Amino acid sequence: MLPDATSDNISTQGLGEAELSLHLAAIVQSSEDAIVSKTLEGIVTSWNPGAERLFGYTADEMIGQPIIKILPPERVSEEPVILERIRRGERVEHFYTIRQTKQGRLVDISLTVSPIKDANGRIIGASKIARDVTDVVVARRKLEESEERFRMAMEATQLGTWDFHPLTGELNWSEECRRIYALPPGQKVDFKIFSEHIYPDDRHYAETEIQKSMDPSGDGHYDISFRIIRFNDKAVRWIRSQGKVHFNSKRQPELFTGTVVDITQQKQSQQALEESEQRIRLAVEAARMGTFDWDLLSNDFKSSQRLNDIFGYHGQPNITHQHLIDAFHPDDKPARDKAVAEAPEKGSLRYEARIYWPDRSIHWIKVFGKIIYNEKGQALRMYGTVMDSTEEKITLNSLEENEHRLNIVIQAAGLGTWELNLLTRELIYSDRYLQILGFLPGSHPTHEEILSKIHPDDMPVRNEAIKEALENGTLDFEMRIKPSPESTRWIRSRGKVFYDKKNAPWRILGTTMDITEQKTAFNALQASELLFKTIANVSPVGLWMTDVNGKNTFVNATWIEWTGIGVTDHSDEGWLGAILDPDREYVLGVCKKSLESRENFAVEFRIRRKDGQIRWMLSEGGPYYTIEKEFSGLAGSVADITERKQQEIQKNDFLAVASHELKTPITSIKAYTQLLAKTYERTDNEFLKNALGKIEIQVNKMTKLVIDFLKLSKIESGKLQLNCEIFDINKLVREEASDMQMVSVNHKIVIMEDQPVNISADKERIAQVINNFLNNAVKYSPDDKQIVIKIEQSAGMVTVSVTDNGIGIKPDEHDKIFERFYRAKANTNTSFSGFGIGLYICAEIIRRHGGKIGVRSEEGKGATFYFTLPVID
Ligand code: ADP
Repeated sequence: MLPDATSDNISTQGLGEAELSLHLAAIVQSSEDAIVSKTLEGIVTSWNPGAERLFGYTADEMIGQPIIKILPPERVSEEPVILERIRRGERVEHFYTIRQTKQGRLVDISLTVSPIKDANGRIIGASKIARDVTDVVVARRKLEESEERFRMAMEATQLGTWDFHPLTGELNWSEECRRIYALPPGQKVDFKIFSEHIYPDDRHYAETEIQKSMDPSGDGHYDISFRIIRFNDKAVRWIRSQGKVHFNSKRQPELFTGTVVDITQQKQSQQALEESEQRIRLAVEAARMGTFDWDLLSNDFKSSQRLNDIFGYHGQPNITHQHLIDAFHPDDKPARDKAVAEAPEKGSLRYEARIYWPDRSIHWIKVFGKIIYNEKGQALRMYGTVMDSTEEKITLNSLEENEHRLNIVIQAAGLGTWELNLLTRELIYSDRYLQILGFLPGSHPTHEEILSKIHPDDMPVRNEAIKEALENGTLDFEMRIKPSPESTRWIRSRGKVFYDKKNAPWRILGTTMDITEQKTAFNALQASELLFKTIANVSPVGLWMTDVNGKNTFVNATWIEWTGIGVTDHSDEGWLGAILDPDREYVLGVCKKSLESRENFAVEFRIRRKDGQIRWMLSEGGPYYTIEKEFSGLAGSVADITERKQQEIQKNDFLAVASHELKTPITSIKAYTQLLAKTYERTDNEFLKNALGKIEIQVNKMTKLVIDFLKLSKIESGKLQLNCEIFDINKLVREEASDMQMVSVNHKIVIMEDQPVNISADKERIAQVINNFLNNAVKYSPDDKQIVIKIEQSAGMVTVSVTDNGIGIKPDEHDKIFERFYRAKANTNTSFSGFGIGLYICAEIIRRHGGKIGVRSEEGKGATFYFTLPVID
């Protein structure tokens, strides 16, 4: 049976049946394709050599065998479908399928199956032509794969493609293109829509560029970036559009093809990059950095204007590399050359050097460079910056200087310095610190060894101090150490805590000082104070001290025992509370005077003891000073003089009584003497006359003495009363002077008076003071004849002074002569009689009038006694 001859490939027209049969057989035999026939049941009836080649089975192996032998199991179901179509008289054409060879290999085939009819047109079988299409399938698959890859690449690059036909106006966008424009599905595009979606600002530019590409004389290409407005969200995006115009034979644009890619992100990052570059540039400018770009292969060196400025070439553009190299200070040039030479290997350049400006001033620069290599590792270029570090250097130098100065101070003070890292517990210390602790300078004791030097009893002190320092930032404590087992020394450590960026304590910088000597001195002081206090407190006298302002700072136990007033109870004048009212003001005055004049004083007063007893006290005191001779206040003692005072009072009382008792007989003697003198006025008995004269003089002396004694006793017992009246002091002086002149015929008393001056005073007492001055003047100037009384007025005060040219008084006795019973040393052994109470009484009288009394004199040069009283207007 021959196969049906109706195959597409075979033309049978014009051939006789036998010819045809032969012809067909030849074709079948020689065909590259497998040509097979089968019954409607699928049994193979013919098998040509092509089928043998393709499927590996010989005709013998296949004829009479079911065709499904060459079907892979998963394709067996194809066969009934094909046979069914054949039965219906249909052809199956170019059906791509897979068959299995005898060797089990799968082959891609293209199958064409046609029905075989008998002479009656009945379908009796099928012929099939199978063509090995493996290569085609492989090629197609490859193409598909390649297309897939292209699509993926497109997707990856997000490259949209389009074509535009200017003659028809048709515009086609690829999926990606539509995605870039966010074009809704189904939406058609044309040139108008495309144009409308160009960002208005860019539209003119884009269209002009596209237009230009259509110029037949050009190459028809364009490549532009512009902004579009997306369809759905109206977002503005940057795209890059590349296009090519295809011209027809008439050089008319016939077709545009092109690509579109969304470059928004790229544009944004480019902008960000530009911004960051701008920022770097600004930073460079702000840092006043010069920059350079050095091509290491061509040795081409480009420097920025700022770099030239740094080298002192202000505004000069044509500065060569050599100019700059020549500027280096000879001392720094070798280091610079070395750094440059090593840079290609190191990858970077870094040095600091001095340069000379054209004006020969010296400046410091700091240079940083970075080497750029090619892929072979060859150094191509060096980029770098140059900074003027002159000021920084000056600052650093002054910092160094400061540190140097600090070091000198530290050394001079014998301060050990240290630094404790609180995180690592690492301790860095100076040699002096080691020395203080008893280590050799330069040694490296461990932390434990250092800690072992601390006196065991003081370890808690140290730990507590560090704990506190961590809380409040400063360390300051004293402790004992044992530099060697047999010695103990005191140290004081002070420090400051430094914090890290997170504000956590990071390290302590500190100093340590050996304070043993101070401490010993301090201890000695404490011991001495203790001794003083002990002595003071067991002393039978009261002891007291004040500060510079006179505020009481110390009283001893004795005083407290007497008065019940301790120093802590003392308000400003607390201690005065113990003094009896009449004496208080006077005592305070004396103390104040001493505080101001810084002179010693002695004052007697009465106190009321806490047991109620009234006691007489003598307080003697004076200024005390520090070792540096600085005034520190007053210090003194208070002694109970009640017994002595009582004796004195008894003596006074006796004096008062005796004087009083003497007064009457003396007055009587005086009266009789004067009577006798009168009676014997004219007698020739010289002896009598003389004797009477002498008696009168002696009686006068005695009278004065008795009056003085009486006054004294009155003063002493506080009974001196003042009977003040207003009178002219000139008049009183004149009266007293003329009285004195009468009895002192050998002296000439001169009065130098002013206009009348009224004062309010006890006339009798003031007369007594003048009389006393005059008496003394006469008494202590036996060889000199003139006595001058002066009455002067100024600033509401009147001063009466009596000047003689007698023996005078040593300055150191000036104060003392106003004390009771004091007589100047010069006259104690001479014939000048007296008790040393006249000036004492005068001083008391003047004091009670609120006036001042005093003397100006030198030994052998006479004396001027004066008193001053307030004037009544
Ligand atoms: P008296 O004269 O009785 O000793 P006074 O109290 O009057 O006592 O004087 C005290 C002392 O002052 C005298 O002892 C004398 O040393 C000294 N004195 C007083 N007046 C003069 C004077 N005009 N010149 C020198 N010394 C004087």
